[in-house]
Amino acid sequence: MTSPVQPHLRLLPAVDRVLGAPEVAALCDAHGRATVTNYVRNVLDELRAGAADQLPDNAPDMEEEVVRRVSERAGQSERQRLRRVINGTGIVLHTNLGRAPLAKRAVEAIAEVAAGANLEVDLETGQRGRRGAAVESLLRELTGAEAALVVNNCAAATLLTLQTVAAGRDVVISRGQLIEIGGAFRLPDVFRQAGVKLVEVGTTNRTRLADYAAAIHGETAALLRVHPSNYRISGFSESTSIGELAALGKEADLPAIDDVGSGCLYDLARYGLADEPIVADSLRAGASLVLFSGDKLLGGPQCGIIVGGRELVDRLRSNPLTRALRVDKLTFAALQATLEIHRAGRAFEEIPALQQLALTEDDLRPRAVALLAQLNAQSAGKHRFSIRSVDSAAGGGSLPDQTLPSLAIRIIGENATELAARLRRGNPAVLSRIVEDEVLIDLRTVMPDDDDALVGRLVHASQARREST
Ligand SMILES: *Cc1c(COP(=O)(O)O)cnc(C)c1O
Repeated sequence: MTSPVQPHLRLLPAVDRVLGAPEVAALCDAHGRATVTNYVRNVLDELRAGAADQLPDNAPDMEEEVVRRVSERAGQSERQRLRRVINGTGIVLHTNLGRAPLAKRAVEAIAEVAAGANLEVDLETGQRGRRGAAVESLLRELTGAEAALVVNNCAAATLLTLQTVAAGRDVVISRGQLIEIGGAFRLPDVFRQAGVKLVEVGTTNRTRLADYAAAIHGETAALLRVHPSNYRISGFSESTSIGELAALGKEADLPAIDDVGSGCLYDLARYGLADEPIVADSLRAGASLVLFSGDKLLGGPQCGIIVGGRELVDRLRSNPLTRALRVDKLTFAALQATLEIHRAGRAFEEIPALQQLALTEDDLRPRAVALLAQLNAQSAGKHRFSIRSVDSAAGGGSLPDQTLPSLAIRIIGENATELAARLRRGNPAVLSRIVEDEVLIDLRTVMPDDDDALVGRLVHASQARREST
């Protein structure tokens, strides 16, 4: 069946005519002519399908409408681009913002190897070398492990470990540790994916060593402990230490695997952050394998790290899945630089995630005062700025019930949601936090090098507001 020809269809401009409009020609330079031609075709299709009474009734207005819609489409694709964000949320390891901000040296290391590197060649002999060998030896030095392996993230490390060590068999874990980390990462699903039978023992709040011991039988392949990174079970609770599990495993000739999550190398108690398991402690207590992320408290790029006994790590390495989960030269470069900073004992001087966690209100005050002075001097808009005490958080599933006293720039003078949206859409994007209808920029998570850019954005957002009112 053919539909009657609608009168407004005759008003639609030809594709070439639209491409010739100065605004669209400029878009062609930025996005490529083929891409913009597609935008134009899509917009024309959309208008053809639209209702005539909602569209212009003359050709010049129709052409203007087409150009407007094409620009809007190009703008959408521009806004989706991955780009720089100033983190004013106060969440140090913000998963949606890419977790750990990298150290300067790690950034330089990425640039250095970007065009090519000795990823799998031994420059001494010219023979094929092993990917990751340098980073693995750093990891051995830093954790005391016999061997190490790097994969795409800690979820991948868990999947690879379970599949290699226990496919078709049982792994025993406490009911209190069947975690969901976020998104689709739920431990029971990972077990299923790895073809491993999950044997839950104990109860949500209490699991004793005897519960694990009673669950061991001929089909048991390993004992697993998972650090409850993003929640805490407190009150009437009891859990089994990795040392006790490792001793039980030794008796029964089973590996004890410890998923510690955050990759903490030091005791952070003196920064007000307790309770994070330390990788070397876990190995010393007898864990056969320890799993953690590279982009949480280690402060490096996204990756999953497995350290432990040589024989087990070699088995993981030769699983074909390892090839599917491997990381590239850029990740190795950033990880190597980050681990070298740890080895040099300069983590709290150079690794932004750790520096930010260690900041006190007193550290932040001079910056807050200087920023406020600049804002008050430059801003002619309707906003008022002040300094406010806030609580920041470690984030990234680390230290869920511990907050860090911090300082924020408070901006008032318009609807908080609208101001936050304008800050987010600008360039560089600024992510803020809204508390009690006030927009707050927590300075803990703003890189000091970004302070000037932050002032620029806040002044601009304030002026944009003035012009629009
Ligand atoms: C964060 C976390 C994971 C997942 O790590 P990714 O690197 O994000 O894949 C797994 N286990 C624990 C205990 C964690 O804290």
